[in-house]
Parts: sequence; C-alpha cells; structure tokens
Amino acid sequence: MEGCLFCGIVAGSVPSTEVLDSETCYAFRDINPAAPVHVLVVPKEHYESVEAVGSAQAVLLGDLFDAIRAVAAKEGIAESGYRVVTNVGEDAGQLVHHLHFHVLGGRSLRWPPKGSDAGG
Ligand code: AMP
Ligand code: ZN
Repeated sequence: MEGCLFCGIVAGSVPSTEVLDSETCYAFRDINPAAPVHVLVVPKEHYESVEAVGSAQAVLLGDLFDAIRAVAAKEGIAESGYRVVTNVGEDAGQLVHHLHFHVLGGRSLRWPPKGSDAGG
C-alpha cells in the first residue's frame, strides 16, 4: 500500500534487519527494541490490523504463526518463553497500520504489560 512503512520494508525500499523471509511473511528486528529479542512479523500483503483479517485469511494467519514460531526457534527463545503482541487501533498505541506481531523475549517479561513490556 502506498505510503505504508511496512509495505516499504517488505518491498525492500525501506531498510530492515531480516530475521526470516517466507513466501507470505517477513520478519525483521524492531528499530526500538523493548527486549533483547524484539522481532516484528508481518504478512507481505497489506492488512491494517486484526480488524481486517479472519477466516478468509486462514492460510495466511497460519503462515504468520508458523513464522512466529520459526523466529522464536531461530532467536533461541522457544524454550525460555516469549510474548506475541499485536496492537489494534488508538488505545493500543498502534503506530504502523500494517498488521504486525511483536515477538518479545530474552528476558523475564512482566504481566500485565506496563511500559516497555507492552512491546513498543
Ligand atoms: P505498533 O504499531 O505500536 O505496534 O508498533 C510499531 C513498531 O514498529 C514499534 O515497536 C517501532 O519501534 C517499530 N518500527 C517503526 N519503524 C520501524 C522501522 N523502520 N524498522 C523496524 N521497526 C520499526
Ligand atoms: Zn502495508
């Protein structure tokens, strides 16, 4: 989508640090990490947020969770545990309106989320 930062990252016109690249999903390091591991997993196709996906995107959503697990394994946090966060809209502080999952780990994370534990 024109003007979308994460579409730019997927297209390669905006630089990013790649963690994983699949046919439908891309994962890259968050520019402002809130934990030792902070990776963003996005669909290559533009969807605004959780509000824009559902059963019609069942395969893509499965791919996203496969990518999330692969990122956790690659980053060495599958065993120690990690948090998956997706912000939706204003009250959640969604800054980039392209569906993305924060994968956070590498330290003990507080719950309920406060400050940096919210994942950006
Ligand atoms: P949010 O939309 O609030 O779920 O979070 C957007 C996230 O994108 C924040 O954690 C930012 O640090 C991150 N971010 C913004 N610009 C970039 C970028 N160019 N490369 C990587 N991460 C970014
Ligand atoms: Zn986009």
